[in-house]
Amino acid sequence: MSETLPKKSTVDKPRIERAVREILAAIGEDPEREGVLGTPRRVADAYEYLFSGLNEDPTHHLEVGFAEDYGNVVVVRDIHLASLCEHHLLPFIGKAHLAYAPKGRVVGLSKLARVVEGYARRPQLQERLTAQIADALYGYLGSWGSVVVIEADHTCMTMRGVQKPGSITVTTAARGVFEEDDARRAEVLGLIYRGGLGR
Ligand SMILES: [Zn+2]
Repeated sequence: MSETLPKKSTVDKPRIERAVREILAAIGEDPEREGVLGTPRRVADAYEYLFSGLNEDPTHHLEVGFAEDYGNVVVVRDIHLASLCEHHLLPFIGKAHLAYAPKGRVVGLSKLARVVEGYARRPQLQERLTAQIADALYGYLGSWGSVVVIEADHTCMTMRGVQKPGSITVTTAARGVFEEDDARRAEVLGLIYRGGLGR
């Protein structure tokens, strides 16, 4: 077994349950009320799943690739993305668009989605998530370069505070040849943006 395979969950669920009961009491709810009695356990189960990426090095999904002399850029659009912002532990939901220029090795499309998931399932910042995926596709996969665009709706902004429903945050990261060469980056961003974002 490789060391990079997902480890067993280290989430302390009883501790989450105690904390959620405390939150319910703190907001003025009755933690014994029938409707919320099971809530601490359900939240603990949900958090174990939503933060499972903390125990994972998502680059292990890129270990199995195919030797392929494909000279063009691989672009995968519209990978569903759901994460929790580390500032509010509220969801941000959107899409990731990935591109990389293979250097003799490509990976299956489902593996790319797994990499996105692995980095998304931890307290995150959209900017860091974007950079981590770009680094994995460049450094770990060993491509000529990578471009990642993420567009997401941050519920911490749309449910509270400035309350701007429908506002989308877009972040980009470019590595390797796409970082160095403006024209190549523009070309790939054109492929990613074709058809428009936010749809
Ligand atoms: Zn937030």
